[in-house]
Amino acid sequence: MSKFESLGLNESLLSAVADLGFEQPSEVQEKAIPILLEDETDLVALAQTGTGKTAAFGFPLIQKIDVASRTTQGLILSPTRELCLQITNEMQLYSKYEKGMNIVAIYGGASITDQARQIKRGAQIVVATPGRMKDMIRRGIVDISKIDYCILDEADEMLNMGFYEDIKDILSNTPEEKSTWLFSATMPKEVSTIAKKFMHSPKEITVGAKNSGASTVQHEYYVVSGRDRYPALKRLADANPGIFSVVFCRTKRDTQKVAEKLIEDGYNAGALHGDLSQNQRDLVMNAFRKKQIQMLVATDVAARGIDVDDITHVVNYQLPDEIETYTHRSGRTGRAGKSGISMVIVTRSELRKIAAIERKIKTDFLEKKIPTGIEICEIQLYHLANNIKDTKINEEIDGYLPAITDVLEGIDREELIKKIVSVEFTRFFNYYSKTRDLNSNDSSGKRERGNGKDGGEYRKDGSVRYFINVGERDGYDWMTLKDFLRDKIGLDKDDIYKVDTKDTFSFFNTEAQFTPLILETFTDLKVDGRFVNVEVSKDPGGGGRGGRRHRGGGGGGRGRDGNRSGRRDRKDSFKGGKKGSKKFKDKGNKGFY
Ligand code: AMP
Repeated sequence: MSKFESLGLNESLLSAVADLGFEQPSEVQEKAIPILLEDETDLVALAQTGTGKTAAFGFPLIQKIDVASRTTQGLILSPTRELCLQITNEMQLYSKYEKGMNIVAIYGGASITDQARQIKRGAQIVVATPGRMKDMIRRGIVDISKIDYCILDEADEMLNMGFYEDIKDILSNTPEEKSTWLFSATMPKEVSTIAKKFMHSPKEITVGAKNSGASTVQHEYYVVSGRDRYPALKRLADANPGIFSVVFCRTKRDTQKVAEKLIEDGYNAGALHGDLSQNQRDLVMNAFRKKQIQMLVATDVAARGIDVDDITHVVNYQLPDEIETYTHRSGRTGRAGKSGISMVIVTRSELRKIAAIERKIKTDFLEKKIPTGIEICEIQLYHLANNIKDTKINEEIDGYLPAITDVLEGIDREELIKKIVSVEFTRFFNYYSKTRDLNSNDSSGKRERGNGKDGGEYRKDGSVRYFINVGERDGYDWMTLKDFLRDKIGLDKDDIYKVDTKDTFSFFNTEAQFTPLILETFTDLKVDGRFVNVEVSKDPGGGGRGGRRHRGGGGGGRGRDGNRSGRRDRKDSFKGGKKGSKKFKDKGNKGFY
């Protein structure tokens, strides 16, 4: 008897399992399937994407459905269109030998008429995203008043995305007498609340540790200065020639910018974020699935539900605000029993976040060094040699061989090897041989854990004063400017002090370890179409004297590899500095909110 048979699966499911080539049930399947087949029970399962959870609820659901009836008996809610389609697709594969089974996907961004038509034909199982589902219930297109099973998949993600009210609404249209199966990667308070509110004495199963990342993922961090994030990303890509990755940024703007730069620099990259049309997103996702894109640069929201196996690396170009989000990011790799690496590019001032994540996921990070230029050259050289060795010979060359041999005559084997390898290698060598070390070597801020606060604190090692080109004329006083800075930089209120607003510019102080973060935040930061510039002031204690500025009048910029080649010194004081104020006044700026 196969392992799947002993779980209680029927013949048609076993045949589908055999076709799919599943040899062993995964942990979540082993735990969930017998419970769900034997009992009519509610269930809470803590399991990450990639653990085989779709089959864990899909197999029992399919087995329990009465295919002779066209009534909708099962509803699966999922957070994203991607995941909704993925689940539908998997379920259709699992039920291929169940004659008469109709599984329909309902999701936003596609024709509601087509979906209504499919529902009308009779769908025993509906897989839906909450928004579209609610819409279709309201229009009376779909009837879920007789369902026996309701599955909430990736419940934590659905709540993260603000679907609580929609879920509540949808569930109010379902019968009291039904089984609810909730699957979630993590168990934040909100998910427990749903479990308590909508479920009756659910059985519980956990796969792996609660709230932890998948154990097959190795977590690494690289400390660089804020302005070296991008060159560091490139080096990480170059040091991993076979990389197939999702690169996470915090904002749509950064996502677009990083993807554009990568493409410009010759990488197979693409952007995925909410400002793209559904069609553009589909194109990018298709290219990614086909591995035509090696680096998918994405926002957290857009990447939710990405269900692509074989992702080798998740790169946290910037850390997310919420630790939970880190768990979701890193769960994109190390799927289906494969190993993966989650890399974090951090500045020293963000190291406390690493400590906080470690506590949460109960896994240590490895501190790694950004490879030097020469190390990358070496890696590329061996990769190239292996590529040559593994390349399948194109027989079309045969006809041209005599002529080619003529051209290469007189070159001995060693020289020929050198020449072949140099074709590719010289490009890397020229770029990297003279580059500097990107690792942030000053160990003063290294992983200090402070005095008891969550995430630790940093040593107070001196104050830095900054100049910012907004002031009272832009509608700020010290309190509102402090709020603005705190919001943009993501620091605590107490980390920003001595805020001193002048007419057209202002000053503020932070501890020195936040300087890279602050300069990074205000590199190219446009609010209402204008650059907000922050510079370290030359006068650390003073209030009224200016420092340097860049891009103040639209000049300056960044050189290759992140150097601020266009930075220029401004010798005069900013007292009454009309230039800065004019920029804002010209466009009628009324503050940044
Ligand atoms: P999921 O966690 O449901 O997103 O599943 C992740 C991937 O693992 C999917 O591509 C499934 O087809 C595959 N899978 C599910 N169960 C098994 C299994 N028992 N053996 C091998 N692959 C599986």
